[in-house]
Amino acid sequence: MSGYLFPPPALPAAPIRGRDVLLPLHRIFCVGRNYEAHAREMGSTADRAAPFYFTKSACVYTPSGATVPYAPGTSNLQHEIELVAVIGTAGFQISQADALQHVFGYACGFDMTRRDLQEAAKNQQRPWDLGKNFEHSAVLSEIVAAQDCGHIVAGEIGLRLNGVVKQLADVSTMVHPVAALVSDLSRYYHLQAGDLIYTGTPAGVGPVQPGDCIEGWVAGVGTVTLNIGRMPG
Ligand code: MN
Repeated sequence: MSGYLFPPPALPAAPIRGRDVLLPLHRIFCVGRNYEAHAREMGSTADRAAPFYFTKSACVYTPSGATVPYAPGTSNLQHEIELVAVIGTAGFQISQADALQHVFGYACGFDMTRRDLQEAAKNQQRPWDLGKNFEHSAVLSEIVAAQDCGHIVAGEIGLRLNGVVKQLADVSTMVHPVAALVSDLSRYYHLQAGDLIYTGTPAGVGPVQPGDCIEGWVAGVGTVTLNIGRMPG
């Protein structure tokens, strides 16, 4: 064998603040209902015993500042601001006490969601993929190394839609904090450097429209922005 039938796609990779190298992305894990008020607005409750997860393909990574088309197949594309933990050191069956040693750093992300398709899937007891895992649905700011920003266990998290605050909470109100998520996920997966964990969104999710701009922030980490294009995708 030599070479490939067609050129392999570029490896998704994200910028790191203050570094001239990119961080290659491996997998994207996302946590559901990790803030009580958001679980309630979704007509549910948070599960304090154990978190639950869904995944996105690394190829749906989109850098902060991008303009993306309004996603196809939906009439209810919604924003979710999230703190993202970036795994830097591989591990399996990691204790909570050791968990943060496996976290390289943090970023701000949008878990963009086709809410109508997600709700239909829930109602039919089907997987969430169509609602969650689609092009441009994992938006990510630059990554900040924990050695520069510290480990993020508290601080404001928020989102503005066209300048109006829609989501506002504190990271400390997460049901399952980052160390617990890393430890729990590592019971099921051999975590790898470049894995991302979108840690869940606070209350206030809602729709975006073509032409909208969303800006999110996590105190101590930074900001993330996304522009929804006027042309459908
Ligand atoms: Mn989410």
